[in-house]
Amino acid sequence: MNDRVSHLAAPQLSVVIPVYNEEASLPALFARLYPALDALGLRYEVIFINDGSRDRSAGLLSEQYAQRPGETRVILFNGNFGQHRAILAGFAHARGEQIVTLDADLQNPPEDIGRLLAPMAEGFDYVGSIRRQRNDHWWRHVASRAMNRLREKITRIKMTDQGCMMRAYSRRIIDIINQCDEMHTFIPALAYSFAQRPTEVVVGHEERHAGESKYSLYSLIRLNFDLMTGFSLVPLQLFSMLGMLVALGSALLFVYLLARRLWIGPEEGGMFTLFALVFFLVGIALFGIGLLGEYIGRIYQEVRTRPRYLIAAVLEQSSEVTHD
Ligand code: UDP
Ligand code: MG
Repeated sequence: MNDRVSHLAAPQLSVVIPVYNEEASLPALFARLYPALDALGLRYEVIFINDGSRDRSAGLLSEQYAQRPGETRVILFNGNFGQHRAILAGFAHARGEQIVTLDADLQNPPEDIGRLLAPMAEGFDYVGSIRRQRNDHWWRHVASRAMNRLREKITRIKMTDQGCMMRAYSRRIIDIINQCDEMHTFIPALAYSFAQRPTEVVVGHEERHAGESKYSLYSLIRLNFDLMTGFSLVPLQLFSMLGMLVALGSALLFVYLLARRLWIGPEEGGMFTLFALVFFLVGIALFGIGLLGEYIGRIYQEVRTRPRYLIAAVLEQSSEVTHD
């Protein structure tokens, strides 16, 4: 019995799954996830975080909890706080030595969790994933490749496939993440910045099992802005460099025009060149103000120090209780 208690208290593996309006995917997820984890032959827990779903997800999760109370824990949020905060809540509750994050929509096969764990056994502490075959729209391919390259330059965070949430982290990384209290973050990037030995493996990729993607092109662009301003000051620093160059350029132009006026006389018909130049400068200035705004917005969100999420209830067995 003592064995049983300690086993409940300390699973080896925690699987963290954020859930938002996934009633259509959940039954298939349960049917594949638990057998896949059982097959690994280790002590595990699955932590579902219901991110304020408006469909039957919460009900399905509590049914699943009733069926597998020993391995299942469900955190019910009091509203929609977003995927990354849901994962953070899962991390705060996770007890495993290894922590795997997974989406609820079965885009990454749960059967591939073992692939992520293999490098961890060899001493890697961050195992990212690359989708084997991308079934997304072509524009996503092009956009994500371009974004990746830019992001890698600016933030020094190497992620071949930032869209893939199926990743494994060591307990050490999760402990550090649990100490961070930033409001807006992108988990794979945050974790990467703490990793000592990161690596990546290839995992399977399928179409979303059911339901709709919660992300649009707009939020993809947003995410990348957040990544760059959230993990690096380089955009701001580059911009001051650019400002300096532009100022230097306009100073030279001013000297040139002045000299021309003195020696050649007043210029005629230079009006439109001047307009073009002014619009160009105004454009740059507006972009700079926008960029400043990104950082100020971040500071604003952080200084409010509102709670990152509100938990309505947690369904879990207390670690003292055994159920047989
Ligand atoms: N998700 C969430 N809160 C949200 C949006 C999404 O918890 O506000 C969950 C969603 O249920 C899924 C995961 O985050 O498990 C990824 O969402 P989605 O599949 O819509 O993103 P995509 O795969 O299109 O990037
Ligand atoms: Mg998805």
